[in-house]
Amino acid sequence: MSQDVTRGQADSAEALVSSGAASALRVALEQYDRAADKLNLGAAVREVMRHPKREVTVHFPVQMDDGSTSVFTGYRVWHNVTRGPAKGGIRFHPLTDLAEIRALAMWMTWKCACVKIPYGGAKGGVTCDPKQLSIRELERLTRRFTTELGEMIGPDSDIPAPDVNTNAQVMAWMMDTYSMHRGYSVPGVVTGKPVSIGGSEGRQEATGRGVIYTLQEAAKAIDLELQGARVVVQGYGSAGESAARFIAELGARVIAVSDSRGGVFDGDGLDLPLVTRHKQETGSVIGTPRTRAVTNAELLELDCDVLIPAALEGVLTERNAPRVRARLIAEAANGPTSPEADDIFRERGITVIPDILCNAGGVTVSYFEWVQDREEFFWSIDEINARLRRIMVRAFEDVQRTAVEHDVDLRLAAYMLAVSRVAEATVTRGFYP
Ligand code: NAD
Repeated sequence: MSQDVTRGQADSAEALVSSGAASALRVALEQYDRAADKLNLGAAVREVMRHPKREVTVHFPVQMDDGSTSVFTGYRVWHNVTRGPAKGGIRFHPLTDLAEIRALAMWMTWKCACVKIPYGGAKGGVTCDPKQLSIRELERLTRRFTTELGEMIGPDSDIPAPDVNTNAQVMAWMMDTYSMHRGYSVPGVVTGKPVSIGGSEGRQEATGRGVIYTLQEAAKAIDLELQGARVVVQGYGSAGESAARFIAELGARVIAVSDSRGGVFDGDGLDLPLVTRHKQETGSVIGTPRTRAVTNAELLELDCDVLIPAALEGVLTERNAPRVRARLIAEAANGPTSPEADDIFRERGITVIPDILCNAGGVTVSYFEWVQDREEFFWSIDEINARLRRIMVRAFEDVQRTAVEHDVDLRLAAYMLAVSRVAEATVTRGFYP
């Protein structure tokens, strides 16, 4: 196979990065390049994996409750499907764009390979502010977006899941829409569905549970006692709330949590059920009784043992990394840390459990859900959690061993494992024709 490759022809990645609107994509590409350098990848396979395989952008009308029509833009990107069907969440957010979705799709490829789940990487999103939409508008938007994705999604080709501002109900609408077009029920087209229509036990909190399994392993490795440890969580949503709850169950004190409007702090440990209730009633953690307000920027720099970023990408950079006081950072969010911040954390002896390992519990139980849908045979919660723990602990051990062998941090080790697995599959399959 010729290793000569023509750079730039298929590539609008650099153009998107240089547009400045694409820090997530810059980070994803730099993380990939660091691993590719270390692995001495052949030029052809290196170039192939640097690009998304397929991207779809759709513009579609949605009828609003007041009778007007708004046009929305949505995306679905397959980064790589060499190891299996495309897999990745759907995000509804005002700042979502193609560059962000590209980065998130690439991270999904590495994540599935890192924990050895037989999927490729994908991501999707619609640029919208779901907080401004009624439930019926959200349903119409979801159903039309699903229809626009057409043949791209399907249980053998591409299986969406929840991500920021999407949930089990959104997945139910996607599953129903897809099924209506087929004329029969296809539960395996999405994961993260309600259990009543083929969802899996334990999927809702799987990301948080997986975060805690890797965190327990990392804490052992650096001799950090989790009993009594002070923990800060940025982003009290699906991933962050469950991670906070599980680490509190292990005896840690969660001293601060936040959402997009800001955070709350209690040095003795927050009353998490009270925080959750307050958020359900008011839409935010802000103002939870007996707490002090903190900004999201302050929260990241609080004196603590464990920091769990669980909101959006790009929050830990060279600007705040020197002031982060945690000993251990567990990336429940995708892409929270820039490569420059990684270098600073490494120099400062702060351990980072990288996203592609740390938050892989979500896609792992999504995989279990898909397997159960295909078998039409459902497992117990104990079976699911035991299998999840085995996969997460084994993946952590693989990454930790690679880090020691090559004297690199956990991120580079996780990337080296993941990228080499996808590279091997790519070379084994060969380049058609
Ligand atoms: P979510 O919508 O349930 O929760 C997101 C939370 O972050 C909300 O509380 C929101 O208010 C908060 N937030 C948003 N912008 C913020 C900001 N600028 N500062 C502080 N907080 C902010 O979403 P989620 O599914 O929990 O996803 C959170 C992160 O976890 C994302 O990076 C996502 O890609 C990642 N992730 C999610 C899953 C999953 O299964 N849901 C799996 C793996 C990774």
